[in-house]
Amino acid sequence: MTPAKPSDTAGTDMAARLVDTLRHRVGKDERAAKPHDWYTAAVLTVRDEIIDRWMESTRRTYAESGKRVYYLSLEFLIGRLLRDALNNLDLTGELARALAANGMDLSHLEELEPDAALGNGGLGRLAACFMESLASLDIPAYGYGIRYVNGMFRQRIDDGNQVELPETWLSHGNPWEFDRRESAYRVGFGGEVVAVNPAGGDTVVWTPAEQVEASAVDTPVVGWRGKRVNTLRLWTAHALDPIRLDAFNAGDHVGALEGEARAASLVRVLYPADSHKAGQELRLRQEYFFSAASIQDIVRRHMQYVGDIRTLPDKAAIQLNDTHPAVAVAELVRLLVDVHALGFDEALDITRRTVAYTNHTLLPEALESWPLPLFERLLPRHMQIIYAINARALREARAKGMDDAAISAISLIDEGGERRVRMANLAFAGAHSVNGVAALHTELMKQTVFRDLNALYPDKINNKTNGVTPRRWLMQCNPGLTGVIKDAIGPAFLDDVEKLEELNAMAGDAALGERVAEVKRANKVALSAQIADLVGVRVDPDALFDVQIKRIHEYKRQLLNLIETVALYDQIRSHPERDWVPRVKIFGGKAAASYHNAKLVIKLANDIARRVNSDPGVGELLKVVFVPNYNVTLAERIIPAADLSEQISTAGMEASGTGNMKFALNGALTIGTLDGANIEIMERVGEENIVIFGMTADEVAAKRAGGYDPRAVIEGSPELAQAVRSIASGVFSPDDKDRYKGLMGGLYDSDWFMVAADFDAYAAAQRDVDARWRDRAGWREAAIRNVANVGWFSSDRTIGEYARDIWGVL
Ligand SMILES: *Cc1c(COP(=O)(O)O)cnc(C)c1O
Repeated sequence: MTPAKPSDTAGTDMAARLVDTLRHRVGKDERAAKPHDWYTAAVLTVRDEIIDRWMESTRRTYAESGKRVYYLSLEFLIGRLLRDALNNLDLTGELARALAANGMDLSHLEELEPDAALGNGGLGRLAACFMESLASLDIPAYGYGIRYVNGMFRQRIDDGNQVELPETWLSHGNPWEFDRRESAYRVGFGGEVVAVNPAGGDTVVWTPAEQVEASAVDTPVVGWRGKRVNTLRLWTAHALDPIRLDAFNAGDHVGALEGEARAASLVRVLYPADSHKAGQELRLRQEYFFSAASIQDIVRRHMQYVGDIRTLPDKAAIQLNDTHPAVAVAELVRLLVDVHALGFDEALDITRRTVAYTNHTLLPEALESWPLPLFERLLPRHMQIIYAINARALREARAKGMDDAAISAISLIDEGGERRVRMANLAFAGAHSVNGVAALHTELMKQTVFRDLNALYPDKINNKTNGVTPRRWLMQCNPGLTGVIKDAIGPAFLDDVEKLEELNAMAGDAALGERVAEVKRANKVALSAQIADLVGVRVDPDALFDVQIKRIHEYKRQLLNLIETVALYDQIRSHPERDWVPRVKIFGGKAAASYHNAKLVIKLANDIARRVNSDPGVGELLKVVFVPNYNVTLAERIIPAADLSEQISTAGMEASGTGNMKFALNGALTIGTLDGANIEIMERVGEENIVIFGMTADEVAAKRAGGYDPRAVIEGSPELAQAVRSIASGVFSPDDKDRYKGLMGGLYDSDWFMVAADFDAYAAAQRDVDARWRDRAGWREAAIRNVANVGWFSSDRTIGEYARDIWGVL
């Protein structure tokens, strides 16, 4: 590979550099090069521009010797990187011209980049937005995670059913990444812990039974205007001994490679554990593997450049994205005690001052815990450390006079039935800050899961409402709208997205409304073409595009939307003469492979689509589309084309949501419950510019406590009863009439997610949406007011708050 030399990249023009890269680094002649060769050459050419800034950023960080932020996350849902880099370096036009000079089209080549789909959904996308904002705010930061060779899974829809296929994003290599085999650490599992000098103190040695090598693969993360380039460091795994030659030579060719295969299995797939139990030993191994490698790397860097382990909290802020890296608490204490020979209390104090934890869910089934025997077998030394942290927490609780119920809620060990290690309690006890991700969520954290821990450590819980990066979620995904805004208020919002507020002064301006509507229509035309391509359904770009794209989960209530779709279908057929607003209902999202009801919801969406789309009685008035393999790239296409954003979770169950923010930023109106960040969106866009319906979190809790009778509710709502009965009786599944009997039966019997309780309010809200849509000028003004008032949901604002309040940088 030709190293990039700043001196010769600065002067020559991009077209010459591109061709030079194609020849000397891709090894192709212009005449023989295929589009993928040009794509690779384009990435490498842009990467050269990044590398110089990357090195400069690193030098500056070392010179300033400031504090670094370390973001530990099992997921980084980063999507494609080329457009991100071009936009942030302002090189889009230059590269497009250079490619055009060679007969290549940039937007065509962009389609060749695979999505780096290293996440389930919102939590992983948040980590990606945060990395971009950290660089944009010029904060020195590393993201740490796992380089999953096959991501989570690629979703195919076969006859309406989700089929999971491996994601093969690395099959053509990855020109963005740098293999850092020199940055490698050993990570051990199992074995035993022995006291080496029982007479002289409590020195212990953990001798793992197994070890793997974690080695770093780095991807540069470019901030806005190229201010700073940070590092996303993803770990891959190797056997210490890649091949056992003795075995190989003795003829055992497969057995000789077993160690490497075992190591590789650690970094194969991401568990789809989003709010759903994985509970697999391999998952715990992944969590420890990446936490241990990251903590070793952080401590190594600190010792190399600072030298005194006691100053770690002044130089490092470690943020745990959910409990997946919570074992990092025990790992850091272990290194401080066993390797750096500090006393336990001092080690715990240093750890606490360094580590902070973000909670993402209150769903009991999603709060991570591990069977104690498994944890002890895999991580015997960490188990001892967790007991020691626990002993201190329980002692403090008793000293505060807390009762037995509070003490057992605080305990890091769940003693009820099968003993389990509670990762959230470990993270809480080991961190100085515990934050929720929206105001309501943080409040509920204090009242529910962490009530007693909050009483014990009252200063830890704080709120940091999530955000999304406006570079990807406005400028890149919606250049048309960005251009219109620039013409309206000037370019200052590009550097400070809260300046979008200046649009408020002209929100009622007819000419602006017209231009915003033209952009929306163009985006809808483009999406319509893609929908025709993907699922073979023709949709009318002038219809209302009503979108629900997110992980498929019962609490997100795609089922509520689908039942209302059926009710609407029934209404249209009964009263075809009425003035219906033509709608396209767009769904997308993956279900965890083991989540039966979520997969059934996907099947139901496809069954409804098949029937509705082929019914000449409804024609263009209603279309239903399930877009396969929802990912970041699809989100970038769909969101700019949405008129209505469905954010309809059972109140109290969606921690924040970030999809809601992206839609509003692109001028969609929200139909939603008072849940997560929807509440804060409402406060900012104004109640008249959002459609809110349904029970509040308090009302949901009260109803659950006070004998909710869903059967009575269903029977009391003719529209709901008819829709549920038609689904249950097989109207949409003539090939298997009983397919949805169980799903609908669940609504009658328990309806934990309160679909029936909120149905009438939701249906009425949808008719309210219709009425608003008919008032074209009113709709456009509301759309502009959404764009104008959601700049606050920029991840720059969120990261600014973390930086000041939690990390002590900035
Ligand atoms: C933003 C985003 C999410 C999160 O969506 P929610 O509606 O907040 O659940 C999930 N997946 C992708 C690809 C996203 O871009």
